[in-house]
Amino acid sequence: MHHAQPSRRLIVVSNRLPMVLHRAADGSLSSRPGSGGLVTALLPVLRDRGGVWVGWPGITDHDEGVESALTRAAHQAGYRLAPVALSAEDQSGFYHGFSNEVLWPLFHDLQSLCHFDPAYWHSYTTVNEKYARAIAGQAQAGDFIWVHDYQLILVAADLRRLGVESPLAFFLHIPFPPLDIYLKLPWRYTLLRALLEYDLIGFQTPRDRRNFVQCVRTLLPEARVGHRSHHLRLPSGHETRLGSFPIGIDAGAFSRQARSSAVTTAAEKLRAELPGRELILGVDRLDYTKGIPLRLEAFRFALRAHPELQERVTLIQVVVPSRDDIPQYRELKTRIEQLVSEINGEFTRPGGWVPIHYVYRAVDRLDLIAYYRAARIALVTPLKDGMNLVAKEFCACSVDDDGVLILSEFAGAAAQLQQGALLVNPYDIEGTAKAIRDACVMDGMERRHRMRRLRRVVNRQDVFGWVNGFLAAAIASDLNDFPLPVDYVPSTESEQAYWDTEFAA
Ligand code: UDP
Repeated sequence: MHHAQPSRRLIVVSNRLPMVLHRAADGSLSSRPGSGGLVTALLPVLRDRGGVWVGWPGITDHDEGVESALTRAAHQAGYRLAPVALSAEDQSGFYHGFSNEVLWPLFHDLQSLCHFDPAYWHSYTTVNEKYARAIAGQAQAGDFIWVHDYQLILVAADLRRLGVESPLAFFLHIPFPPLDIYLKLPWRYTLLRALLEYDLIGFQTPRDRRNFVQCVRTLLPEARVGHRSHHLRLPSGHETRLGSFPIGIDAGAFSRQARSSAVTTAAEKLRAELPGRELILGVDRLDYTKGIPLRLEAFRFALRAHPELQERVTLIQVVVPSRDDIPQYRELKTRIEQLVSEINGEFTRPGGWVPIHYVYRAVDRLDLIAYYRAARIALVTPLKDGMNLVAKEFCACSVDDDGVLILSEFAGAAAQLQQGALLVNPYDIEGTAKAIRDACVMDGMERRHRMRRLRRVVNRQDVFGWVNGFLAAAIASDLNDFPLPVDYVPSTESEQAYWDTEFAA
């Protein structure tokens, strides 16, 4: 096992570079820096240690213009950006194909949506090798290489073949599926074997880590599983360490912005426009994992079963367009729009109350934070989600301590937020409807009590702590899961057993 020293230079690798390149009609290129929490948290590390970010620049016609736009962007960012040139064909087979039509649905337990096209797999292997070559072109002895997410699982194996000896770590941002589902993958052995080339693998929750270990036990019985399933050793002597590191958000920045006068005014305006109504909020990328149709059905069920909620609640559902070149996503959009119009058709009072305000577009950060701040209830009900940052952002922005989070127990975030949130099984329409009603009638004291607990977790376990924790684990010899709160009080004995096995570290 290699040991990364704090002074090691860091090479971060992800599918996309942390910036958006845009080609204008006249062919000229401009770039905007990325704004996600991960980019923000890695910035100081990359600047302090010196570092490189390797990824696809977001444009398939690679030319000198791209190189000079990247040099300018790197100058702004304060660290180097190394592009991986991909053709439109690469993008289609590797990204749209294998990543988004095989690994994405399979790892979210939705195997019936998988399209196991062998051509996709071949493209995935070719493109992972392109990433590996780009990394090898940058790597110097002593670097520490951190690869992100499911698009790049094979990179470690490729790098070792290319003779790169640096320590290699991987973080899986999406869930790792249980054995019975993983076994459906035609390339299950190669993929698992490739993962064991990493020195450290990080998962979002202990559950994902345990699923992975169970797959290794079955498919690679020659691997020895170490103490408490925190490392695996191959007959070659190579050891892979495993941990769970729930990713966080830049909670401080969200809270600060939520308290700003611009957001305060915008949130007050929103509330004034919906006088006497509780605002329920849903914010999701258009994706079948997010459980939007079932959520709408639960909302409809709540309005039917509890007529006193009519005219008292308004659901703002923001759907951010995504992957609309995949047929299943287009069908999902149609299904959502059909349900929204059915529900609005059933309950709207002309000239007055409209139960669902449907927003199909990306919203500005300021508007998003105003929604979070103004909302009384957030409905976060994915069928399965690696983490779900919307849940955490809502808590960080609920600075008046009066918001209620309704959260799917199948979101990774449930492992940390189980105590303060109202947990629901998103497949249980009646149960979710009941949670909506409970949230509407919850008294101020309980809301405050719950939201304070949630905010404490979200603030303490933020994205800066996550980066530091992962890098510390990379150099630590004894790896334990992040301490997770496990004092959720289940209501029945069978629930108790479930929580003990699923979420105990
Ligand atoms: N978000 C966005 N544009 C919007 C609405 C939301 O970029 O119009 C952001 C949101 O703030 C959050 C992210 O998209 O940080 C969604 O992350 P999440 O983990 O909830 O789900 P994912 O889309 O990654 O599956």
